[in-house]
Amino acid sequence: MSVAVSQLAELATRWSAALERQLPAAQRLREQLHAAPRLSGHEHDVTERLTRELDGVVRLQPVADAGAIGRVGPRGPAVMLRAELDALPVAELTGARFAAAGGVMHACGHDVHQAALTALLRASVGLDLPVGVVALLQPREEAYPSGALDILRDGVLQQHEVAHVIAAHVHPGVPVGAVAVGGGFINAAADEIEVRLAGRGGHGGYPHEGADTVAAIAHIATAIPEVVRRAVSPLNPAIISVGTLTAGDGAANVLPAEARLLATMRTTDPADREPLFEAVRAMAEGMAAAFGTRAEVERVEGEPVLVNDVGLAQGADDWLARLGVDGAQPMRSLGADDFSYFSDAVPSLMLFVGVETAGESPQPALHHPRFLPGDEAVGAVAHALLAGYLAAAERVLGIPHHRGEPAGSQGTAS
Ligand SMILES: [Zn+2]
Repeated sequence: MSVAVSQLAELATRWSAALERQLPAAQRLREQLHAAPRLSGHEHDVTERLTRELDGVVRLQPVADAGAIGRVGPRGPAVMLRAELDALPVAELTGARFAAAGGVMHACGHDVHQAALTALLRASVGLDLPVGVVALLQPREEAYPSGALDILRDGVLQQHEVAHVIAAHVHPGVPVGAVAVGGGFINAAADEIEVRLAGRGGHGGYPHEGADTVAAIAHIATAIPEVVRRAVSPLNPAIISVGTLTAGDGAANVLPAEARLLATMRTTDPADREPLFEAVRAMAEGMAAAFGTRAEVERVEGEPVLVNDVGLAQGADDWLARLGVDGAQPMRSLGADDFSYFSDAVPSLMLFVGVETAGESPQPALHHPRFLPGDEAVGAVAHALLAGYLAAAERVLGIPHHRGEPAGSQGTAS
């Protein structure tokens, strides 16, 4: 058994060394990808470019319209490694030599993820992989309809016998050189709530003759935090934020007959999702009735909770240590990532790669027009994916996890 662990450790050493040799080219590729960003659903030529880079390494087939998928290594249960393809409608302000023009920007680091996956796959040539790798170039992470959901619905996971899915995301909340891995909830489920109110319009001087949707929608908006407090245990992070509130047409003295509220609902325990929405619905309907108006409340279901498999997280942590990468506090947030569709389907792992810079120009938040990970992020993301693969391969091969065993140790056959 430990023989197999030592074989994996040897693979880790060789793969990591081959990866180092790929990095200069991968960093140049990252700059080119950064300079030519594409919005969600329009990533076709990014996929074409990466397909050329991976010619002779992996045969890629189209998936989810603009994406691609391919497999290397032996048959049987495989580990999927995912890189997202899309950029954001953000006007870049980084001032980088390879900055994008035209109001579209890789402000979420997906350029880094693509270059890292490419480098890791190129570095795998000639290695005897014990468990297959399924490379996924995923479109539409940033927008609906989700690319991950399409891929799942297409039956891609079954078709390629995907046992585990691994992804790594750059993060400004983690120090450069470190990777944060944690088991359990990582990102929230993200649903949208829409409340449409219908009342009776009227004159602002005679509100008693109308049914005032402005007062009703305002009360509903301010009551929402109280509903969260009453419907969800304070030990389970949950939040509802109102992002849009519309009523009226610009007049001061006209009471509008309609109003609309849009909110995002974030929950971290799958069991809270339905009851919280139902509590909002009940409150909104009751509140609307109290004001003589009528509420229609709808939920648009978004991503499920992103849960990291605890065993994979421990395994990856140990492999990172063996590869010489520092650990960091697990990242958890009420943000959302459609990787959660994968983690909902099979035990999976999302790692966060540090791109925090301190000092005079601190790294801004993801999606900020000045967000720009350094060159070193490409190798760091690739190593995080490698650690995730090794942890998942251990699981597929049925190797019991040995915490903290040093790289290359022979162990004793037993
Ligand atoms: Zn992202």
